[in-house]
Amino acid sequence: MKEIKHFINGEYVGSASGKLFDNVNPVNGQVIAKIHEAGEAEVDAAVKAARAALKGPWGKMTVAERTEILHRVADGITARFDEFLEAECLDTGKPKSLASHIDIPRGAANFKVFADLVKNVPTEAFEMATPDGTGALNYGVRRPKGVIGVISPWNLPLLLMTWKVGPALACGNTVVVKPSEETPTTTALLGEVMNAAGVPAGVYNVVHGFGGNSAGAFLTAHPDVDAITFTGETGTGETIMRAAAKGVRQVSLELGGKNAGIVFADCDMDKAIEGTLRSAFANCGQVCLGTERVYVERPIFDEFVARLKAGAEALKIGEPNDPSANFGSLVSHKHREKVLSYYQKAKDEGATVVTGGGVPDMPAHLAGGAWVQPTIWTGLPDDSAVVTEEIFGPCCHIRPFDTEEEAIELANSLPYGLASAIWTENSSRAHRVAGQIEAGIVWVNSWFLRDLRTAFGGSKQSGIGREGGVHSLEFYTELKNICVKL
Ligand code: NAD
Repeated sequence: MKEIKHFINGEYVGSASGKLFDNVNPVNGQVIAKIHEAGEAEVDAAVKAARAALKGPWGKMTVAERTEILHRVADGITARFDEFLEAECLDTGKPKSLASHIDIPRGAANFKVFADLVKNVPTEAFEMATPDGTGALNYGVRRPKGVIGVISPWNLPLLLMTWKVGPALACGNTVVVKPSEETPTTTALLGEVMNAAGVPAGVYNVVHGFGGNSAGAFLTAHPDVDAITFTGETGTGETIMRAAAKGVRQVSLELGGKNAGIVFADCDMDKAIEGTLRSAFANCGQVCLGTERVYVERPIFDEFVARLKAGAEALKIGEPNDPSANFGSLVSHKHREKVLSYYQKAKDEGATVVTGGGVPDMPAHLAGGAWVQPTIWTGLPDDSAVVTEEIFGPCCHIRPFDTEEEAIELANSLPYGLASAIWTENSSRAHRVAGQIEAGIVWVNSWFLRDLRTAFGGSKQSGIGREGGVHSLEFYTELKNICVKL
């Protein structure tokens, strides 16, 4: 059986404890590899390697040398595209048609985009007067923050991990990554690409394991980790923030959401249906930016529900290798239990099940997979668990509204503030409503469209900080002012 080991100081190493856990293919429940679980010793070795690399060749490199290496990392991912694709789909159960367009290309792009950005970033300078008349010159320099702890989730494993590692390395930091226990393979494979690209040993380290009382907690508690960037659930973000308080270490948190779509009667219905279908069901609903609450203006409510139902029922459920499939399994049986518990809650809370609500019939060889049906509900009260809590599955609740003010109030009614999508052909309304939505990202007549130079992050309980473009520099560098008396 294949073993997935830690990547520390440029080498793959097993756990001293010999503790291993299963890596399961969610489409059929089969164990595909054994993963080494890091103890405190492995996490400490990884942090020490990262610290040493910071003081060593990586820290001494020019920006041009560093960024050239990161371009080679991106090219290395692209050169091994099929291997990354296979690994990502085996770990997650997502269709290859999706991962080949999003996960793997974006995983590679994250290195190039940030390498180019860092090469071209300006700094500030101010001349000032002094009482003796000679003056002084102030100028800012950005320095790497140090050893960055990276903790990533399972829904877009390579993409979200490199979204942190790319800027961290471009800015001259070193990293210790703890990927999700569900999806470790592409993060492990990236070690080979790093070595081949000439990334010095110790710059990129990976430790595997779980969160609490395992690799995740050991990493966040390690006193020699300078800052922690995390993507995952809001509750985990709170735990990590507490751990980071010891030693006053900075955190960047990309957390959960319960995102609203607002569909006005003056929308282009085709666009609104296509966009809402993708935002509710892409990646089997396991996208932090996905729409789980849809508010539709009353005159078009019935038509919208009927057309979204038809769209959901036309999705083709299948395994990653099925070229016609556009809807895969959930990431794990554990996650399926959570999603199905909400399917049950919806029924208990009196929802009208427009479509889905259960488990699809699958052929015998896929019967052991973590499949669920794409599901749409109507008729639930605004305070029901299904409408207020993040499910992170392929489902949404649709509710009618009568006025613009009501739609805004409904969209803003929860403690989350990650993303929102507005569907209208009235551009004044689009700007007016977008400005009032409490979220880090608002789309108008689109979803999941993003220039990597823009700021990304959540407001309220959906996160702290912005990453993307120059905004990533705020977290991954320390801005120092040097004042020279002339
Ligand atoms: P999760 O919080 O359960 O786990 C994320 C990572 O944190 C995993 O690597 C896990 O092992 C680790 N972890 C768990 N407990 C920990 C602890 N006590 N200390 C340190 N590490 C710990 O999240 P998940 O289930 O993997 O991912 C789904 C969640 O991620 C959803 O809530 C989703 O909205 C969110 N998400 C947010 C964004 C965003 O950009 N805002 C993007 C993707 C996913």
